[in-house]
Amino acid sequence: MTRALPVFDAHHPPSEELIADCVHCGFCLPTCPTYALWGEEMDSPRGRIYLMKLGLDGRAEMNDTYVSHFDKCLGCMACLTSCPSGVQYDKLIEATRAQVERRHPRSLADRWFRRMLFALFPHPRRLRLAAAPLWLYQRSGLQWLLRRSRLLGLLPARLRAMESLLPPVTLDAFRPPLPEVVPAQGEKRGRFGLLTGCVQSVFFRHVNEATARVLAAEGYDVVIPAGQGCCGALMVHAGREEEALALARRTIDVFEAAGLDTVVINAAGCGSSMKEYGHLLRDDPEYANRAKAFAAKCKDISEVLAGAAPRSPRHAVPLRVAYHDACHLQHAQRVKLQPRAVLATIPGLEVVEIPEAAICCGSAGIYNLVEPDAAEELGDRKAGHILTTGAEAIVSSNPGCLLQLRAALTRAGRPLPVYHMVELVDASIGRKGLSTPSPPEEGRGEGASA
Ligand code: SF4
Ligand code: SF4
Repeated sequence: MTRALPVFDAHHPPSEELIADCVHCGFCLPTCPTYALWGEEMDSPRGRIYLMKLGLDGRAEMNDTYVSHFDKCLGCMACLTSCPSGVQYDKLIEATRAQVERRHPRSLADRWFRRMLFALFPHPRRLRLAAAPLWLYQRSGLQWLLRRSRLLGLLPARLRAMESLLPPVTLDAFRPPLPEVVPAQGEKRGRFGLLTGCVQSVFFRHVNEATARVLAAEGYDVVIPAGQGCCGALMVHAGREEEALALARRTIDVFEAAGLDTVVINAAGCGSSMKEYGHLLRDDPEYANRAKAFAAKCKDISEVLAGAAPRSPRHAVPLRVAYHDACHLQHAQRVKLQPRAVLATIPGLEVVEIPEAAICCGSAGIYNLVEPDAAEELGDRKAGHILTTGAEAIVSSNPGCLLQLRAALTRAGRPLPVYHMVELVDASIGRKGLSTPSPPEEGRGEGASA
């Protein structure tokens, strides 16, 4: 029988059983970024779980204050790895976020801002259209001028954040999609699918290309199914359940049709969501089992590369880099050793650790756009730690983190180059310089070499 729920409706409220797993020990507090910023119990994992319990017991209202504590959660999942009781906070916050999105009337401005983000980000064709004026904005020098003039400071915080996080737009954004098959070089070791993503396929095409080149050089046929698009990760993390379900089903359909044993992902946020498709689609009789089987095939690029002995010779990449753990890789997927193992195969590369590595950089999907102040504080904190390492460049495995770190380091006056892990492997195999597109604002032209 369905209980009457005053705050949550009956469609997957946060589970009472999962809430009961929390023994209130507080071990999760030191690695929670919002608790680190404000020291507020209700902005800690333990406090948020308590708020969920109050909601279930009918002792809270879903008002702006109640919702703000969940909105401020980055979904970074640091509390998953630090909790000794195995509390499944990921499932709790996912359920709560979906309830909030369904039931809480946001302000008109908030609604429109979120609507605009979700009308754009998951749609590569729309992103390509938006890329043209952005390219002009960056290449004409207008961005440089506006940044120097400080006129951007007059914009509302969210629009200011959007501008500061703009990826460097190159002509790559307008090129046709990658070929459907990139054949293995030499003796074939296997056949992998590659998720090219939504934002990644337009603004980080060079990372997708590097991934395909590295896999092919290592002996894998790379299959890039044409009908793929957004995997739904942004929607899952924002509580937009119906849209997330639709995108997950399409992703499964497209990759299933290609008959693949492994699907490789090079964006940590996408990988963590795709590995959870079984949970997401648990109510769907047509997809539940297929989703579980599909999720088991999903692997981060670092898992694939670290799981087999390197075959292509690696050449020296003499560089001191700081490796930044993306939260959705280190906490949500528990993939921490593999990227380091992959980087260790590159001669000449010195990898240094960043202090406070467990704490999020503030990127977190659309978090740095909808909660720009908290995100900026976290970004500045991370940039400060990075700068203590003496690194010449930053390496990570998530496009959102790369943009966030780039913006934070620029604010700090030290705009170091940022690379995806696979770009370094690609440079090492291909014996070529590293190139990261940068806007002229930083004085580094397209294809600048490190
Ligand atoms: S997901 Fe991150 S921000 Fe949210 S409660 Fe857990 S540690 Fe804190
Ligand atoms: S560490 Fe786990 S059990 Fe302890 S307070 Fe945090 S969520 Fe609850």
